[in-house]
Order: sequence, then structure tokens, then C-alpha cells
Amino acid sequence: MEWTVKPGWNGVMIEPDASTPLLHTQGITKNFGQVQALAGVSVRIARGETLAIMGPSGSGKSTLLHCLSGVLVPDQGTVTFDGQPVSSLRDRERSHLRLTRFGFVFQDGQLIPELSARENVGLPLMLTGTSRSRALGTADGMLERLGLADLRHRRPGDMSGGQAQRTAIARALAAQPDVVFADEPSGALDQATGHETMQLLTTTVAMSGASLVLVTHDLNVARWCSRLIEIRDGLVHSDRRLEPLAAGTEAAR
Ligand code: ADP
Ligand code: MG
Repeated sequence: MEWTVKPGWNGVMIEPDASTPLLHTQGITKNFGQVQALAGVSVRIARGETLAIMGPSGSGKSTLLHCLSGVLVPDQGTVTFDGQPVSSLRDRERSHLRLTRFGFVFQDGQLIPELSARENVGLPLMLTGTSRSRALGTADGMLERLGLADLRHRRPGDMSGGQAQRTAIARALAAQPDVVFADEPSGALDQATGHETMQLLTTTVAMSGASLVLVTHDLNVARWCSRLIEIRDGLVHSDRRLEPLAAGTEAAR
């Protein structure tokens, strides 16, 4: 694989190589009863690419994200990750893939209320066999990168919505995933906090070298990504590259 590192809005940007996609789908369809959620979607996602998915409510965005991440198996077509046919793996193998290679950020964070921030962030590592002390050490490092070092002993209920989402981002990145999936992760936050959190998500994921697949209804959030796909009626309606934004230029939007 060819890597090009060039200066960009977040200091360093890794230029993805589109010829060897890390993750791709070929003609995937998914029906729920009479509802056709996906009508034949083919997408190729390069390593290090940050992809925003937009589209009307009910157009199939979450279903596409779930098929890409092995949560759902499409009715037809294939999903391939790093050369492996995800759609034909057994449940256990797909679970293992999700734990070890993917990170997830959901709308309401889905942190475990009884656990502290560092325990929440370290949990995915402990689930794959990392010792508790190592997992918590890694968690502390991730929380520090996200500006949450002082909150590491706090439980989610004692944090603001933005802090909880930053903790969820730290958790998604703790196992050094190849792809981070995020489904409307700023949906429950006020606009200013949402934008700040999404900027942090896109820059932290880009710096980690992982790919990002981000479902959002906010074009200003999508603009932090390198590419935008629009889904309508279960099909890719448009697919375009986005210009990198200069750091701190809110007006550039
Ligand atoms: P979006 O995320 O773009 O809002 P979804 O992918 O969630 O859209 O849903 C696409 C379509 O599939 C919608 O019509 C939705 O109602 C339907 N759908 C999604 N998940 C299910 C499910 N588990 N059971 C039944 N219908 C579903
Ligand atoms: Mg959705």
C-alpha cells in the first residue's frame, strides 16, 4: 500500500489510497419485512479515510453502518474487511472482529453507568484478554488525549453530555481499531458542544490512522470528513470528496 503524508488542517493527514479499500461492500441489500432498507449499495472505504454518510431519516444510513460493521448480515451482496468476507463469518467471528478491529460511538454514548470513565474505556480491552492494569493504563492515556484526565474516576452520570461523548470516543479508540463507526454521535448534544465533540472525533480518529464512518444529519459536521456519501431510498445518491478545512476556521464553513 502507498502512503502519502502531507500537511493538513490537523497537522498531518494521511492521504488514503483508494485502490486498495480496507472495507468495501458489493451490491448489498437488506429488507425488514416489506421495507427495503438497502437496495444495492457498493462502497469502498480506504484506510485512513474519514467518510460522512448523510441522507433523510429512514433512508438506510444506520442499516448500511450495521452491515459495514458486521452487526447485521445483508440479504444479498458482500461486505469485505481487510480481505475477509465479513458477511460470511459466523456470529462469534463477527463479534471478535468488532471487538478487536472496530470502534463504535453511538448517539447516547452507551457507557456503563456503574463504571468510572477509565473502566468504561478499558472494558473493550479487558474483554479481549488485556490485563486490568494494562487496560486501565491505556484508558488513562486515551482519556488524557481527549482532555479528560481529571475525570477518569467519574461515572457517566456525573459528567456532562459532551464529556460522556468524549469518553465514548476514548473507548472507541482504546483498542487501536482500524475503523471507527459513529451513528449520529452528536444527536443528543447542543449544537456548540456537538460541533466541538465531532471535531474532536474526526481529528482524533484521523490522527490515529483509523478510518471513520460517521452518520450525521449536520453538513457542518460532515465537512470535517474527507468524503461525503448521500444515501436516498437505500441507494448511494452521491459520493464526493470534501476539501480539508483549515484548523479553527469556523467561517470556512
Ligand atoms: P436511517 O438510519 O437512515 O434513518 P435506517 O437504516 O434505520 O434509516 O432504516 C431504513 C428503513 O428500514 C426504515 O424504513 C426503517 O424503518 C427500516 N428498519 C430499520 N431497522 C429495522 C428493523 N430492525 N425492523 C424493521 N424495520 C427496520
Ligand atoms: Mg439511523
